[in-house]
Amino acid sequence: MDILSKLNASQGKAATSSSPYLRIIAGAGTGKTRTLTYRVAYLLMKGLSPNRIVCITFTNKVAKEMRQRVEDILEENRFSVSGFPLISTFHGFCYRFLKTEIDSLGIYNRNFSIIDDDDRNRLYKEIFTEMGKKDSKDFCRSIVSAIDRIKTEGRYPEELRPKDVPVGSCFTLADLEKVYSQYQDRLRSQNLLDFDDLLILTVQLMRDNPAVREHWKRKFDHILVDDFQDTNGLQYQLLLLFMGPETALTVVGDPDQTIYTWRGAKNDIIKNTLQKDFPALETVVLDENYRSTQNILDRANCLIKKNRDRIDKDLQAASHVVGEKVDYHDYFDNASEAREVSRTIRQLVGGGKAKFSDIAVIYRSNYLSNVLERQLALYQIPYRIYGGMKFFERKVIKDALAYLRLAINPDDYSFLRILQAPTKGIGEVTLEKAKALLRQQGRSHLLEVFRLDQEALKLKAASRLALGDFYRSYDRFLLALRQYADSDELYRAITTYLEDCGFFGYVRRLDREQTDRGSYVGSSGNGNEENVQELLHTLQQFFSSEYLGEDGKPRTPDLEDFLIEIALQSDQDTIEDGNQVSLMTGHVSKGLEFPYVFVTGLNENIFPTSHAVSTYSSEAIEEERRLAYVCMTRAQKRLFLSSFGGNDFIHGGSYRPSRFLTEAGIEPVQKKPADYQAHQGTRRPSSNPFAPAFLKKAELPVGRKSTEAEKYAVGDKVVHTSFGIGEVVLVEGNKIDVLFPEPFGRKRLVVGFKAFHKLKEE
Ligand code: ATP
Ligand code: MG
Repeated sequence: MDILSKLNASQGKAATSSSPYLRIIAGAGTGKTRTLTYRVAYLLMKGLSPNRIVCITFTNKVAKEMRQRVEDILEENRFSVSGFPLISTFHGFCYRFLKTEIDSLGIYNRNFSIIDDDDRNRLYKEIFTEMGKKDSKDFCRSIVSAIDRIKTEGRYPEELRPKDVPVGSCFTLADLEKVYSQYQDRLRSQNLLDFDDLLILTVQLMRDNPAVREHWKRKFDHILVDDFQDTNGLQYQLLLLFMGPETALTVVGDPDQTIYTWRGAKNDIIKNTLQKDFPALETVVLDENYRSTQNILDRANCLIKKNRDRIDKDLQAASHVVGEKVDYHDYFDNASEAREVSRTIRQLVGGGKAKFSDIAVIYRSNYLSNVLERQLALYQIPYRIYGGMKFFERKVIKDALAYLRLAINPDDYSFLRILQAPTKGIGEVTLEKAKALLRQQGRSHLLEVFRLDQEALKLKAASRLALGDFYRSYDRFLLALRQYADSDELYRAITTYLEDCGFFGYVRRLDREQTDRGSYVGSSGNGNEENVQELLHTLQQFFSSEYLGEDGKPRTPDLEDFLIEIALQSDQDTIEDGNQVSLMTGHVSKGLEFPYVFVTGLNENIFPTSHAVSTYSSEAIEEERRLAYVCMTRAQKRLFLSSFGGNDFIHGGSYRPSRFLTEAGIEPVQKKPADYQAHQGTRRPSSNPFAPAFLKKAELPVGRKSTEAEKYAVGDKVVHTSFGIGEVVLVEGNKIDVLFPEPFGRKRLVVGFKAFHKLKEE
């Protein structure tokens, strides 16, 4: 077996260990995921049956990469297996389990769907509206977050405790119980599960149903878990339930990278609990980092040492490459930070050092991407936000999926969607009537009410016609789903259904209307039809791939598998390979690596967040510090850190550099307000790559305040700090329209604003 040659001694020892309980504890980039991957391949080559191995990863992306890697290793070793181990997230694992076992609970059936965030919000809104609390924002928000917290702990409404209502809350225990019970009841009546239900129901079934437990406890010879430091109590309980007397366990993790305690993660499990539960536990420590240069690691080591109660480890670069110093800048404001980041990216790529896809910009919270995005666009840098608006969250895609989901599980939320796409002329009043009929007539779904109670609903002729078309194509599709011979036929049935029910026509109409309004951006990929085509393409690809069934055996995937695959997507799964800069939050960056990494907005009250700062809780700050450590250790070759100044209108005063900079041994440049002015004046002119060369050299007085408003006439030349040189094409009072070179085009400017001035011809 040629496994050991690809690993260092400790990694090799771990990958091939015969210990039944193994824990690999190691810092970032030391090859934990790699070792786990090789261990899976090793176990297969040793003769373990593929369907008796299960490997849990934190994201689907890592699962997919690991699967590919295992296949490659097997091929390199000319080893073939029949079947493949299940490599998936906890949620994916539970989904497969419930698919075979959920019927025995008697309250769900195996065709269940997973509710998405939109529909979940809609469901909560219904509950709050009925309670007359829709407008009490605080009440709604705090009750939902309390329910989220309680569910993460694995408790249902029957298990509420007085402590679940924090002191000074705007809701009572009775309110909480009412909302939570209604939430669960409504999910159940629609055969819908949320993410937490997947875990809780799995634990319940395994705990309370001896027949199910006995069967599943014998199912696996080996369970492996990546990123184990972020396992929460419920997930750990779940693991223990699946461990039979003969089941081996391998976990890998870095306690310094626990960044999900807010979702219940406990790094005490990897540090202490495991040892107590499995006294025979073998521990392997990896200490060589294969990802980053020593300069990057020194800063990261220095930072994480500030956390207490940790297993001290100093990351050393396996390559011994010292690399360039970690770069740090404190910018005038967040716009200048974004501009300089963009400029540096341009330089890296322009100098041939990097491709856009080698670069990641990481920040603390999603809202921080706005300013960055604007500047990246100005500098014509292709980028992609991960964890932002996902493809499957686009409206038209969700509409298409609602049509498909209805055929598997006719839940009301999907049905409400299709009533609007295209509109079937059903108003609020009719809807309310339908909901009343649902109860009165004992129907199980709105889909049934609108089919069977059209008289009572007093539907208009147009609505009857539209619904008639829908039901006809829907029935034909259900029939086709029972009869199709192969994946090609299934695919054709789907496209026929979407055409017949009028959905494609609706999408084309949408695009036409948007073109007329001038808001449709042609072939840029934002057209609704293009999006639906993309979805169909994904579907086709999915159907022609191999899928691992509930029994762990490969089979041809069906529509249900596709829908579930989408429902279980995580933030990282939006990542597409393309030559684009990656923008993401620190949480999303976990487990990933990039040659060039920018960590921006390293400011007090941003990173660490104001929440962590204001609670004065050392735990909250330590979690933020771990997150900063995760961000820094994503970098392979170079790490660029930055903070910015300016007024902090939310918290008062000015922005200050983050404490994490000093703690990492990087001295923040303490700037006085005057320095910021100077900084602005000297840096800005050179910041625009499109500005003519002579401007880059010139000292542009853009920082000055215009003392007297300049007079402009059509034909005058204007110098703008971001757009370069343009020509005045229209003057209207104190506003001028200026035509700048592409990509900026025509801009309306207010005279007297300090970002531009008239160019005096020499
Ligand atoms: P993280 O803590 O960020 O999850 P990790 O410990 O899981 O990191 P990996 O992602 O497995 O680390 O490895 C980091 C990088 O180092 C990867 O590019 C991996 O291929 C490489 N690497 C790890 N071990 C070796 C090795 N023995 N030889 C060559 N490259 C290695
Ligand atoms: Mg990893």
